[in-house]
Amino acid sequence: MRSASRSVLNTTFHSDASRLPSGPGAYILLIEIQTNVTVRLPRRPDAVLVPGRYLYCGSAGGPGGIKARVARHMRAAKTVRWHVDQVTTTGKVFGAWVFPGGLECELVAALSALPVPIPGFGSSDCRRCTSHLLAWPDGQRMSFESLLSTK
Ligand SMILES: [Zn+2]
Repeated sequence: MRSASRSVLNTTFHSDASRLPSGPGAYILLIEIQTNVTVRLPRRPDAVLVPGRYLYCGSAGGPGGIKARVARHMRAAKTVRWHVDQVTTTGKVFGAWVFPGGLECELVAALSALPVPIPGFGSSDCRRCTSHLLAWPDGQRMSFESLLSTK
């Protein structure tokens, strides 16, 4: 892959998972919820996500890589396996920005200006991040330049 197309891939929002690369890497999922969503995390009190937009940073390395994982996130019908499934089965998943070869925790670090709605969300096996889910309040700008420099 040419370096020019790689940087385009890094900054383009993909609403169609079928066009995503099938290799390993990280992604930022854009989710919107219209109603309160009660989230259950092990060994923590239930938490409520209020309506709004959220960004979930994840990574995929198994068969089908980023493409298979984002496609799964975008499917409403699925068995709830990960914390984020509690949100994607209720809200709308618009798509994702993808970072082939990237790491989810570096994406979280690059988005550290965004508020953490629920500590521990998606990060129970992560010692670095407070949460892999971030709130994206209206009007708050995200800098993709900072994401590009994380690689
Ligand atoms: Zn992390």
